[in-house]
Amino acid sequence: MRRLTILGATGSIGQNTIDLIRREPGAYEVVALTGGANIARLAEDARALGAAVAVTAYDDRLQDLRAALAGSGIEAAAGAEAIIEAARRPADWIMSAIVGSAGLAPGLAALEQGTTLALANKESLVCAGALVLETARRHGARILPVDSEHSAVFQAMAGEEITAVERIVITASGGAFRDWPLQRLARASVAEASNHPNWDMGQRITIDSASMFNKALEVIETREFFGVLPEQIEVLVHPESLIHALVGFNDGALMAHVGAPDMRHAIGYALHWPARRALPVPRLDLAAVGQMTFRAPDETRYPALRLARAVMQMGGLAGAAFNAAKERGLDGFIAGRIGFLDMACVVERVLDRFAAQGGHANAAMTLDNVLQTDHLARIWADEAMAEKAG
Ligand code: NAD
Ligand code: MG
Repeated sequence: MRRLTILGATGSIGQNTIDLIRREPGAYEVVALTGGANIARLAEDARALGAAVAVTAYDDRLQDLRAALAGSGIEAAAGAEAIIEAARRPADWIMSAIVGSAGLAPGLAALEQGTTLALANKESLVCAGALVLETARRHGARILPVDSEHSAVFQAMAGEEITAVERIVITASGGAFRDWPLQRLARASVAEASNHPNWDMGQRITIDSASMFNKALEVIETREFFGVLPEQIEVLVHPESLIHALVGFNDGALMAHVGAPDMRHAIGYALHWPARRALPVPRLDLAAVGQMTFRAPDETRYPALRLARAVMQMGGLAGAAFNAAKERGLDGFIAGRIGFLDMACVVERVLDRFAAQGGHANAAMTLDNVLQTDHLARIWADEAMAEKAG
C-alpha cells in the first residue's frame, strides 16, 4: 500500500485529491491530513480515510478537532509546527495544497524525507524556487507539478530533451473580468471576482485569476520548475480553457495538452505517474466544442504580467516579496480595504521598495531569509494600503 499525506486536505485541491483516492479503496494508507478552520470536513475525511493524524493550522481549534475525532483513535494536532511535523512523517506521496507562502515550510519538510511531492502550492516555487529545487535534489526527492498548466507542459515534454524546447506557452482564461470594459474594473466587487467562468477553485486563486496574478505566479513557476529563460515563456488568453499549455520545440512543432477543465486530471496524473491510469474526468467532444479562440494578453488590463517579468529580472528573493505583497493586497481587497485595481498598485509599490534596498535582493536564499522577506513585504504592503485608504 502506498502511504500518502495531503497538506491542505480541506481545500479545493485537497478535496479533489480525496475524491480520487476514495475511488480506489484499499490502495492507500493515509498518514496525515491537514486543514484550517473547517474542522468538521477535516475530521470527517480523516475518519473516512482512516488517517493516522489530522492537523488544523489553528492552535485554538485543537479542542474542537479532538472532540470531532473522539473515539476514532486518530491523533489530533494543531499549529504551523504540527503541520511541518506531519509533513515529516514517512509517506510515499505527499500533496502540497496549502494556499500561499504558508505552504513553503511544510513542502520543504516533505522534500527532506526524499519522497514524491505533488506540488499544487505554486507560491513555494515563486518565493523560493532555488531553495525548493535544491532541497529536492539534495534529498533525492521528486517534484511533480499539479498546477494544470505545468502538468500540461510536463506531459507535453515527456520523452523530450529540455534543450529541444524553444518556448512554453501557458494559457489563461482571462478570469471573471476578461470582457469587462477597463473603467468598470476599479469598482469590481469581491463577489464578482470570486466567480470563475471555467474552473471551480478556492476563492483566493479565483480572484487571482481575475487579476491575472495567478498567471503571473505561474509564469515564474514555469521559469523555476522547467529552468527556461523568461523570454521563452508566453501567456496566451484562451477563454475556453481547453488547451492548458503548449510546448514549442526547435523544429517548430507545437505540442498542446487538451482536456476538460477539471483539476482531477493533473492531480491524478501526479498520483499515478509514471503510469497513466483511467480518471473520472469529462471527455472532450471537439466537434461539439466547435472552435477554440486565442488572443494576446493586454498588459494595461493585466499589470500583474508586467510585474512578473520585473520579478524574474530581479531574481533572488524578489519572488518572495512579490508573492507576499500579492497575498496581502488580496487580503485587503477581500476585506474591502482596497479596490480591485489597487492590488497591482500595492504590489508594484512593494517591489519598488524592494528594488531600492538592493541588499535584500542579494541575500542568500535560505528559508529564514525568504520568511523575513515575506514578513517585510507584508508590512510594506500594509503601509501602501494605508496610503491608498487614507
Ligand atoms: P483553498 O483555499 O481551497 O484551500 C487551501 C487549503 O490550505 C485548505 O486546506 C486550508 O485549510 C489550508 N490553509 C490555508 N491557510 C493555511 C495556513 N496558514 N496554514 C496551513 N494551512 C492553511 O485553496 P486551493 O484552491 O485548493 O489551492 C491550494 C493551492 O493549490 C494554492 O497554492 C493554489 O494556487 C494551487 N492551485 C489550486 C488550483 C485549484 O483548482 N484550486 C489549481 C492550481 C493550483
Ligand atoms: Mg494553473
